[in-house]
Amino acid sequence: MLAGKSALVTGSTSGIGLGLARALARAGANVMLNGFGDAAAIEALRRDLAAETGVRVAYHAADVSRPEAVAALVEAAEAAFGAVDILVNNAGLQHVAPVDEFPEEKWTLIQDVVLNSAFHATKAALPGMKRRNWGRILNLVSVHGLIASPYKSAYTAAKHGLVGLTKTVALEVAETGITCNAICPGYVRTPLVEGQIASQAQVHKLPPDRVIREVILAAQPSKRFVEIEEVAALAVFLCGENARSITGSSIPIDGGWTAR
Ligand code: NAD
Repeated sequence: MLAGKSALVTGSTSGIGLGLARALARAGANVMLNGFGDAAAIEALRRDLAAETGVRVAYHAADVSRPEAVAALVEAAEAAFGAVDILVNNAGLQHVAPVDEFPEEKWTLIQDVVLNSAFHATKAALPGMKRRNWGRILNLVSVHGLIASPYKSAYTAAKHGLVGLTKTVALEVAETGITCNAICPGYVRTPLVEGQIASQAQVHKLPPDRVIREVILAAQPSKRFVEIEEVAALAVFLCGENARSITGSSIPIDGGWTAR
């Protein structure tokens, strides 16, 4: 379905980003991986995914909190594959604390990784997409781009900003073959959420199993985690031709959370 296309997925050494990268490769797209982790483990991941799917899989270690690293990442993907047709702005991190105790450096890092990196990557990838008159920009947002939760000021502000960026980019390229959308999952059990279970356990002074039941999944009416594969399937659909009229949308995949 995506044969001949090339994708760049930020933050794809783990969790949702890795699931999206896998799904895009299985759909036929070349994939540039990015993110932190053990170099040998990432190389094994890259090699296995390439062997399994037959597409080209590359890796770049850019720290996307740095604008010049984001530009270098997009350049490297264009050099490796000749194009970035699909850009997935997925890298993210969380920090949980009351706003009056929120560490300033965490605030800044979350804005840089979640929001600013998406701006810089979009800015770098758009000229090529415009030249080819085809592109898919997917911003991995969260229900926290649409609603808020206490103790997540930096994340909620950055994700709301990312929804705004999504809409603006979509309008600017609406008459082209490029779309830009936000995917807004509820809770998906990834290393990021494992971290939240631990930190919410401290904030709420509860054991992890009660945090999962009474805090994490309390707001998610389905009472189950969203599966990475479900998010990846939505992303692949949004990359296809049948999704060409879906743009500027923020699509919840949240077990009913935002229906409340
Ligand atoms: P994760 O911690 O499993 O993966 C995060 C990825 O981002 C990793 O590959 C990590 O190396 C990378 N990363 C972090 N900082 C980076 C940086 N400065 N430069 C480059 N890479 C960096 O997290 P996840 O749960 O898979 O989250 C992925 C995205 O999905 C995030 O944007 C997150 O906000 C969003 N999201 C997650 C959930 C959830 O419940 N897990 C729900 C909604 C949205």
